[in-house]
Amino acid sequence: MGDKLIIAIDGRSSCGKSTFARAIAARMNYIYIDSGAMYRAVTLACMENKLLHGGIMNEQALPQLLEYVRISFRKRPGSAETGTFLNGVNVEQKIRSIDIASNVSLVSKSAMVRKKMVALQREVGNNKGIVMDGRDIGTVVFPDADIKIFLTAETDIRAHRRHKELVEKGYKVSLEKIRDNITGRDRIDETREESPLKKAPDAIILDNSFMTPQDQMIWFEDLLAKINTT
Ligand code: C5P
Repeated sequence: MGDKLIIAIDGRSSCGKSTFARAIAARMNYIYIDSGAMYRAVTLACMENKLLHGGIMNEQALPQLLEYVRISFRKRPGSAETGTFLNGVNVEQKIRSIDIASNVSLVSKSAMVRKKMVALQREVGNNKGIVMDGRDIGTVVFPDADIKIFLTAETDIRAHRRHKELVEKGYKVSLEKIRDNITGRDRIDETREESPLKKAPDAIILDNSFMTPQDQMIWFEDLLAKINTT
């Protein structure tokens, strides 16, 4: 397989999609696109513009908001990593907060929001050679992706991993709150009407509960070798 590929990685919250996707992108020399960051940035815009009240979204005000929302990924000065920008402002830190995590699945349920995000994701993924992670990449955004991986991990393991990550970043949050947040998001993401989280029929399942990042890359190299010989 000489041509550049589209690689789609989907799965539940906090199962290590972005770590795996980043490593694959580095291995392949591809671009990594974090579709969840886009939904998080829209959620931030909704919160800053007071469109969310007591778990309900003001759908009427959405078209106007979406009209002005501009999301982009730009290289951070002095780093190989990209950051998420909302209307020209770096919001990478802000969108990782527990406050955003608590509201993002509510915003992501909206058909209007999804339509705009999917169009943007297709635009940025236009020139193959990308790894994109999310909930509907293999099912809706790129149904013809060359490689589709559906990542899973046990709930407690996911909660511990996310808790450790947030604590290391300086956030003060309990393990219980993290566990509630990820199971709550999974429930909304899997049961929503608009492109719910589900495995694409042709996706390959990888349960990484007891795998290190290195184990996952060995698994990926095997997969690449198999694809190249078929
Ligand atoms: O991947 P991450 O945890 O940052 O995603 C945050 C949220 O964005 C998810 O819980 C989900 O509600 C939404 N999302 C989505 N579709 C995607 C990516 C993320 O609905 N492709």
